[in-house]
Amino acid sequence: MLARKHILAALALTLLGGTAQAADEVVVYSSRIDELIKPVFDAYTKETGVKIKFITDKEAPLMERIKAEGENTSADLLLTVDAGNLWQAEQKGILQPIKSPVIDANIPPQYRASSHEWTGLSLRARTIAYSTDRVKPGELTTYEALADKQWEGRLCLRSAKKVYNQSLTATLIETHGAEKTEQIIKGWVNNLSTDVFSDDVAVLEAINAGQCDVGIVNTYYYGRLHKQKPELPVKLFWPNQGDRGVHVNLSGIGLTKHAPHPEAAKKLVEWMTGEQAQKLFADINQEFPANPKVAPSDEVAAWGPFKPDAIAVELAGKRQAEAIRLMDRAGWN
Ligand code: FE
Repeated sequence: MLARKHILAALALTLLGGTAQAADEVVVYSSRIDELIKPVFDAYTKETGVKIKFITDKEAPLMERIKAEGENTSADLLLTVDAGNLWQAEQKGILQPIKSPVIDANIPPQYRASSHEWTGLSLRARTIAYSTDRVKPGELTTYEALADKQWEGRLCLRSAKKVYNQSLTATLIETHGAEKTEQIIKGWVNNLSTDVFSDDVAVLEAINAGQCDVGIVNTYYYGRLHKQKPELPVKLFWPNQGDRGVHVNLSGIGLTKHAPHPEAAKKLVEWMTGEQAQKLFADINQEFPANPKVAPSDEVAAWGPFKPDAIAVELAGKRQAEAIRLMDRAGWN
């Protein structure tokens, strides 16, 4: 009997040892593509020896997969874009809070979930782009003013089905209430020069091609196109500088409810909010670091400084359903 006890004890130790070994690994489900995340993960592995496995897919199937896998999930972390999507993950009950003074110190509270279930990692502004041939920046003021008669037949927009526009609309509702927001959106729809586009680059290309004069896009798409076409006669404008500021959204990460390696995952997230990772992660996609102590790249800084909307981005999630209904009523397809 005694011998058997010893064997069991030895076996338990082996198993514990095995667990400790497995903790030197973190698994990430990511809706961001390989080239945007791999250099960051490689840097972490190089520094710590911790291996990071990841799979990439669209955010909806990833969230469904985490939910379906339940307690057996291999995902420690969900990495995705837009507070609207991260809020969805929260609603599905697939995340758990990370309590971390490191994250709290690195990332301002408006770019984190108040539940601590996710944190922003990089920021992007959703702002106005305009034709430098046909628009003087002095003619532009606010998102709201794009509903004015002046822009009739001159505006390009992306589809209302994209979460980016739902989040923008959600923050308009938070600011103005539903009635006024619906008027603004109806004004935008009235001013469209053509059908909505399926992506932001198409909006920028349409401005370039003379199909419209102004549009609303995420800053990194402008950065991408501008890199390919430095002579592009399109620029970014920072609206609402006299009031609430430019709509800012984020990419972010959350710890899954049944993460197999919660401690190792927490350490990775803490590291990702620190200086080295913030620089790398933001610069790859021409985004702004979410950690305000870290400067953006020269390319991004060249767009000029702006006042961001100080609204807590999780409100984009809280008002998402309302925003979708309102956009539909206003005729934004
Ligand atoms: Fe995007």
